[in-house]
Amino acid sequence: QRLVILGGGESGVGTAILAKKKGYEVFVSDKGIIKDKYRKVLEHFEIEWEDQQHTEEKILNADVVMKSPGIPDKIALIQKLKEKKIPVISEIEFASKYTDAKIIGITGSNGKTTTTMLVNHILKSEGLHVGMAGNIGDSYAKMVAENDFEYYVLEISSFQLDGIVDFKPHIAILTNISPDHLDRYDYKYENYIASKFRIAENQTEDDYFIYDADDKDLTDWLKKHPVKAKLMPYSIERTIEEGAFSTNKDITITTNNDTLKMKTDSLSLEGKHNLKNTMAASTASKLIGIRKETIRNSVANFQGAEHRLEKVLKIHHVEYINDSKATNVNATYYALDSVRTPTVWIVGGVDKGNDYKSLMPLVREKVKAIICLGKDNTKIIEAFGNVVDLIVEAYDMSETVKIAYKMAERGDTVLLSPACASFDLFDNYEDRGNQFKAAVQNL
Ligand code: ADP
Repeated sequence: QRLVILGGGESGVGTAILAKKKGYEVFVSDKGIIKDKYRKVLEHFEIEWEDQQHTEEKILNADVVMKSPGIPDKIALIQKLKEKKIPVISEIEFASKYTDAKIIGITGSNGKTTTTMLVNHILKSEGLHVGMAGNIGDSYAKMVAENDFEYYVLEISSFQLDGIVDFKPHIAILTNISPDHLDRYDYKYENYIASKFRIAENQTEDDYFIYDADDKDLTDWLKKHPVKAKLMPYSIERTIEEGAFSTNKDITITTNNDTLKMKTDSLSLEGKHNLKNTMAASTASKLIGIRKETIRNSVANFQGAEHRLEKVLKIHHVEYINDSKATNVNATYYALDSVRTPTVWIVGGVDKGNDYKSLMPLVREKVKAIICLGKDNTKIIEAFGNVVDLIVEAYDMSETVKIAYKMAERGDTVLLSPACASFDLFDNYEDRGNQFKAAVQNL
C-alpha cells in the first residue's frame, strides 16, 4: 500500500515512522520547508520526501493519504484526491488502527489542553502506563510505533476529527462549543459543531461521552443528534445523578452507583472553567477505575499548563496573570470571571469575528483600565469605550507591561487575556505569553 503524507511536521513525520514500520511504501510531501530535525528522521528511516512543492504524479497515485491538520480541505490538491476517491485521513485515524490501548479523546473549543494534561496527570499518578499526544507534545503515531502504552490521552482538534473513518475513543470528552475556526467550515457554525461531535460517531453503548451539560449549543445539538455512548454530563448549575456536578463547596461525581466527593477549595486550578475541566477529567478517571484517593490528590497538586491563567509574579501586591492562550472571547470570559480584584486588562490581536457582548457585565464589574495590544484596536475601543474610563493603545509588550504597572494599584490584577489571535505582533500565543512574562520579570 502506498501512503502519501501531506505535511512534514510532527504528525506527518510521526505517521511516516509508523507507516514505514508497518510495511507501507511512504512518501512525505510538504509545500513549505521541512525542518532539519524532521529531515534527519526521514532520512534515518529511509523515507522518501520532498519539500517546497507537491509533485502531483507522486501524490495522486496514493492508496491512502494522511493530511496534516493544518491543511484545509479546500485546496485543489485535496479536491483532486477526493475526486479520485482516494481516502484522505488524519493521524489519529491512521495511528489508532495499530494500537489496542484504551483511548480517552478530548475535544472542545476551549479547555482541551488543560483537561488532557489533567487526565494524564491523574492516570500517571495511579502508576498507569499512559501516553499523552494529539495536539499536544509528541506525535501520537510515533508513540504507537515506539511504545506499548495501556492508555492514550489524546487532545483532538476538529481538524483531526474531519479526517476520521473508524476512530473511536473509549471515553470521549467534549468540553464546550463556541464559534471558532469558522473559516475552515464555510462560515457555518453547524458544520463546526458537527465536526466536534464526530468524536462520538463510532462509539458504542460500551463507551462513554462526557460533556458540559451547561453548554447550550452543545446540549441543543445532542438532543437533535443523539450519540450511542453512555452519557456522562457535568454541571455547575444543577445536580446530576450519573455524571458530575458541583456546588460552591463540593464536587460530586457518580458513576456506576458509586460516588466520589471532593472539596472545590482543594483544587489547584482556579476559575469556573477549571472546575469544569476538573469534573470532566475526574469523571473520565473514575470511569476507568482510578482510586478516589489518587483523583483527589492529583487535582490538588496539578500544575496547570503554561499560558493558561498562569500566575507570573506579584509585584507591590499586584498579581500579574498570563492567559495568552485565550485566543477567543469565551476563554477570556472565564479569565475575567476568575479574577477577584479590580483588573487592568490587556486585550487585542487578530480579531476572529469577535462579539464582545458576553463580556460586558464582567468588564463593567471588574475592569478599571484596558490596554489594547494589537495592530487594529477599533472594535475593542468601540465595544468598551463607554464602559471603561481608561482605554489606551500600545504596540509592543514591554511598553504594555510598563503602562499596566503604572495603572495598577495595590491589590489589583494585571491580566493578559487577549481574546484574539496573536499573529499581528507575535509569532504565536507562546511568544506573546513569553514576552509578557519577560516584561513582568523586568519590572
Ligand atoms: P484548548 O487546548 O482547547 O485551547 P486550553 O486548556 O489550552 O484549551 O485553554 C485555552 C484557553 O481557554 C485558556 O485561556 C484557558 O484559561 C481557557 N479555558 C480553559 N478551559 C476552559 C473551559 N472549560 N471553558 C472556557 N475556557 C477555558
